[in-house]
Amino acid sequence: MEKKPSALYYFRPSTLPFWALHIGCFAAFFIEFSWWYVALAFAGYAVRMFGVTGGYHRYFSHKTYSTSRVFQFCLAFLAMCSVQKGVIWWASHHRHHHSHSDQEGDTHSPQDGFWWSHVGWILSESTNKTEEHYVRDLMRYPELVWLNKNFLIPPITWGVMMFLIAGIPGLVWGLCISTVFCWHGTFTINSLSHTWGGRRYVTTDTSRNNFVLALITLGEGWHNNHHRFQSSARNGFFWWELDITYYTLKLLSLVGLVWDLRPVPKHLLDSHNETWIKNQPIHLQAMPTPRAAALAVPEEA
Ligand SMILES: [Zn+2]
Ligand SMILES: [Zn+2]
Repeated sequence: MEKKPSALYYFRPSTLPFWALHIGCFAAFFIEFSWWYVALAFAGYAVRMFGVTGGYHRYFSHKTYSTSRVFQFCLAFLAMCSVQKGVIWWASHHRHHHSHSDQEGDTHSPQDGFWWSHVGWILSESTNKTEEHYVRDLMRYPELVWLNKNFLIPPITWGVMMFLIAGIPGLVWGLCISTVFCWHGTFTINSLSHTWGGRRYVTTDTSRNNFVLALITLGEGWHNNHHRFQSSARNGFFWWELDITYYTLKLLSLVGLVWDLRPVPKHLLDSHNETWIKNQPIHLQAMPTPRAAALAVPEEA
């Protein structure tokens, strides 16, 4: 697939729902303003962003903690309410990203342009397919396979819920605005988190750490930390690195919904063992080819 198709390519019938939700945001100008609607959009953003980070990413893609089969299904459903396709599709593409980060074959590297890494790849037909060999562990669960196939059920449920809560304004603020912000917040991890910020660890990619991105993505902005060690339940390795997803997982572990949160290995917290190369240029060609490992298997601590 050509990674720089013409602008018209992004306006095919299959991409219309994506643009329709963007256009739907402008309906807010025709509705009487209320802070209650803003709160609804904000809550919808926060809850579903946690679904993306704590669910799609830290659980299904990296298995950084354990949970029950029932709560696993709930996490998948919540994550998919963010309208980011099926849980198995998401994990497969994410594991692929880690095994090819910024190298030839990476699905969404900014090396192929900002637009492509941010949203172009999602709207491309070339990424519709799920590479099943990355997600055999998830495909053992028929309920996840079913949900993955019927990926419109959670978003429709979310839309109906928003309508029941606040009618048409619920659809505009709780569905359109909240989802569009949640989309672009998530997408910054593939685009800006590989271009904007500092680097604590030497990795074979362009990943960065960035407080602003960590704030809007509930902790995913510590992306250089994450590329250095993907199997940890926390991306903010140090106490001053805000990681709301990790705090939420800690709370869920206190009530027994999740457990076995995998820690950051001690040697990575010892700055003497790593090189701080903040804002230094990166020469990808000089770097070794990254491991093409199945990321479901946790790394050695
Ligand atoms: Zn990355
Ligand atoms: Zn990851």
